[in-house]
Amino acid sequence: MKLVFATHNKNKFREVKAQMPSHIELLSLTDINCFDDIAETEDTIEGNALLKARYVKDHFGIDCFADDSGLEVEALDNAPGVYSARYAGPEKDANANNRKLLDELQKESNRAARFKTVIALTTAEGEKLFTGLCPGVIVKSPRGEGGFGYDPLFQPDGYDRTFAEMPLSLKTEIGHRGKAIAQLLEYLKVE
Ligand code: IMP
Repeated sequence: MKLVFATHNKNKFREVKAQMPSHIELLSLTDINCFDDIAETEDTIEGNALLKARYVKDHFGIDCFADDSGLEVEALDNAPGVYSARYAGPEKDANANNRKLLDELQKESNRAARFKTVIALTTAEGEKLFTGLCPGVIVKSPRGEGGFGYDPLFQPDGYDRTFAEMPLSLKTEIGHRGKAIAQLLEYLKVE
């Protein structure tokens, strides 16, 4: 069975492909010559994941899954959420996003937050969503050099290091994206 992972990100693709059951031939957007700019116009993480998966299914006729992620901060009514990449502006500047987040939380004692990944799968059987959550706190100042995005500010519950201070293998094991992918793989194995 052919299945598209709606991404051009080679690292994400390689990591997921290595875990796919053998009856699935995994293709990237590049493999199917899809270079369209799929605008993420929905106002929820779920909506944007579904929008990308449906686009591929409708335009290319191949089963597909797509992921979308964001950071939800309790004291900010779950912002930045679906707007995580462009929190401080359309430039999608991670340093500016982190500075804005610290500013917004300056006088806030509730530092609880969670990362969320939703994977939307569209097949002949219909649509399915898989959600991976990673709870934690926003620390007072950035720590660590690894990772990307909000990693230097996010410390997962049960650890004294931020995502940016951890080896990638540990982040993958306990993180939101890894959890959502594990659910997708479990579902595809029994299909
Ligand atoms: P995407 O849907 O995976 O592209 O994630 C959207 C945005 O959420 C990213 O640009 C980051 O700002 C933020 N984000 C998602 N996952 C992570 C993560 O694992 N670490 C840090 N930031 C993340």
